[in-house]
Amino acid sequence: MVFSDEEMKKGHERAKSRREERQANGLSAYRNPIEKAQENPTSLRAAINGKCYDCIGQDGDPDWRGSIRECVCTDCTLYPVRPYQ
Ligand code: SF4
Repeated sequence: MVFSDEEMKKGHERAKSRREERQANGLSAYRNPIEKAQENPTSLRAAINGKCYDCIGQDGDPDWRGSIRECVCTDCTLYPVRPYQ
């Protein structure tokens, strides 16, 4: 999927707006992959990212991105589409 410059700009503006809203409400600007998936429940990408983040132990693994990248469970159905490859 290729996004146009206009679509990318709108996406960045939405993300900036959500980040500013969270900060205004005293929340961290950081959202983990599960929180992102919960905010966008129809996104398969967000769902996959959230599942891999959960599988690897969430923030209990300080290098969870690296652990997902180096996942060795090649028989997992999400393996070919896992994030951070
Ligand atoms: S690809 Fe790896 S990290 Fe992602 S759900 Fe499967 S086993 Fe877990």
